[in-house]
Amino acid sequence: FVRFENVQKSYDGEALVVKNLNLDIAQGEFLTMLGPSGSGKTTCLMMLAGFETATHGNIFLDGEKIDNTAPHKRGIGMVFQNYALFPHMSVAENLAFPLEVRKINRSEIKSRVQRVLDMVELGDLGDRMPAQLSGGQQQRVAVARALVFEPSLVLMDEPLGALDKNLREQMQYEIKHIHEQLGVTVVYVTHDQSEALTMSNRIAVFEDGVVQQLASPTELYEHPKNAFVAAFIGENN
Ligand code: ATP
Repeated sequence: FVRFENVQKSYDGEALVVKNLNLDIAQGEFLTMLGPSGSGKTTCLMMLAGFETATHGNIFLDGEKIDNTAPHKRGIGMVFQNYALFPHMSVAENLAFPLEVRKINRSEIKSRVQRVLDMVELGDLGDRMPAQLSGGQQQRVAVARALVFEPSLVLMDEPLGALDKNLREQMQYEIKHIHEQLGVTVVYVTHDQSEALTMSNRIAVFEDGVVQQLASPTELYEHPKNAFVAAFIGENN
């Protein structure tokens, strides 16, 4: 469904930050890119989203080469750590916005907005302004916004990084539940191994722009391929 084929990336002719990445992600899969800060995870997500171009190699989505497709035409939903809701719009207006841009009719917009709000358990808060929500609630709105135009692929970059531990665990569960319910493909970036182990179908462990191991959580935990993977998976538990 998603394919990185011999993908390399360097910024401004500097050293490669992604080195010959080959990665296939299945439709409906929850794939996590896990690795220390600076290992190239976000860069991979940005190339998939279309905000960065690969220096070498190709990226395919649903069999099509997307290297020359503009970001908004890729049909990809995105959630980031600093979720940036529009402060002057209500929650419902924030969610309606991507649909209005797509020229969807009003009644359809209304029902879709309510559906995603219910999905993230904010059904009653559509009229609130973002500043009137807690951090966790704002992040739920960001998840809802990524889902509202019914993308087949959602990218999440450290979406829970700003939340406290309890809320993070609760949201991990909720995101996982939404993933299962919708059957949407999720590519998730984190440096938190317990988060990756809890949520993913498969995990790609990054070190210095290289995927050191691609495996299921169980396989990774029980059979780390090398010392780096073993140490990283064993850390900060
Ligand atoms: P983090 O978890 O800290 O975001 P990461 O694994 O996602 O780390 P990237 O953000 O992809 O890593 O960064 C990989 C490397 O590329 C780093 O050395 C970073 O400094 C560099 N880099 C990232 N974005 C740019 C940019 N826009 N211009 C120049 N260098 C960049």
